Amino acid sequence: MGLDIDKIRADFPILKREVNGKPLVYFDNAATSQKPQVVIDAIVDYYSNYNANIHRGVHTLSQEGTDAYEQARKKIQAHFGAEKAHEIILTAGTTHSINIVATGFTDLLEKGDEIIVSALEHHSNIVPWQMLCERTGAILKVIPMNEEGSLVMDVYEELLSPKTKLVFVNHVSNALGTVNPIEFIIEKAHKVGAAVLIDGAQATPHIKPDVQKLGVDFYVASAHKLCGPTGVGVLYGKEEWLGKLPPYQGGGDMIDQVTFEKTTYAGLPHKFEAGTPNICGGIAFGVALDYMNNVGFDAIAAYEEELLQYATAELKQIKGLRIYGEAKEKTAVISFNVGTIHPYDIGTIVDKLGIAVRTGHHCAQPIMTFYNIPGTVRASFAFYNTKEEIDAMVAAVKKAVMMLS
Ligand SMILES: *Cc1c(COP(=O)(O)O)cnc(C)c1O
Repeated sequence: MGLDIDKIRADFPILKREVNGKPLVYFDNAATSQKPQVVIDAIVDYYSNYNANIHRGVHTLSQEGTDAYEQARKKIQAHFGAEKAHEIILTAGTTHSINIVATGFTDLLEKGDEIIVSALEHHSNIVPWQMLCERTGAILKVIPMNEEGSLVMDVYEELLSPKTKLVFVNHVSNALGTVNPIEFIIEKAHKVGAAVLIDGAQATPHIKPDVQKLGVDFYVASAHKLCGPTGVGVLYGKEEWLGKLPPYQGGGDMIDQVTFEKTTYAGLPHKFEAGTPNICGGIAFGVALDYMNNVGFDAIAAYEEELLQYATAELKQIKGLRIYGEAKEKTAVISFNVGTIHPYDIGTIVDKLGIAVRTGHHCAQPIMTFYNIPGTVRASFAFYNTKEEIDAMVAAVKKAVMMLS
């Protein structure tokens, strides 16, 4: 059942390149994944053979494009386990998806209503809710985290009340890799009548979600973190909720009838898809999901867990190295610092050795504040990475530490 890593690596042309004269070791997968040739080919094929605007034209190219785009929507629907294709809104990405929901709730909230987020959120799942609170007078409450990087569920239960209208939590933390207990979070929120949005941007590269089984109200993700292109993503919403929310943007493609007196809106999903969409991106997103499903999410998760265990053990042998985020359930993300060395300095030196890791606050400043650090070095693995690459990173970090201390 293991993965054929050599075969998989051959699917990703970028893995053949060198950086600073060394073979590229790409460990910044939590920021964006690399793309397999089939996805690149789908993009070239679209622009080479059937580029046209969709949904409006009767001509052949427009129909071919429309068919391919709507087929991609069905693939996304199947992947996420949505009941209906029109519950899948194609967006520009996670950030865009969250903003559609946060803006849509403006007229559905009253002063004094409460919104719960978690201490582990990405800025894109904090700021839109703060803006929503400013518009409505709703109050933002935060589920705290503990030292190992897990959310404190007892406090979450205490925060819930009939005043709670919305709960927003990420499925997996991008900064620490913690897998949050979203089943529990959703169940408890629904008991008080609150709607739940799960930010799946960081979970979807490793876990295949089932939105119906979860019973979640909204689930959002970005194609670019799961082998697809940038600038496209998904907003899954239960039909009932998407019906209640007003359109986010006005424009072409989202209307039923327009007069200067009154415009009526198109039905789902078009109500939320104003303007010419990222046609090529949507099609390539579908191809990326096919590719990952072919590799298999169970095999991906098992292999990445192996990489995570190996890298954790190897890194811990470096004197003074501390790993942030050691929740029992986590994805293949390791955030660390060595002594008081600034993460940026380590990142710069290992880049000279061809190794791409991320340094900084990872768009999650509240987590850095919790640990009282400026940031971390973050190595995040994908199913095309290898133990040999981890060895190269560990050697490079050791070298950096020697130079910097
Ligand atoms: C990457 C990420 C986002 C933002 O995704 P974009 O594609 O930049 O919109 C939001 N939340 C989490 C947890 C992420 O990892």
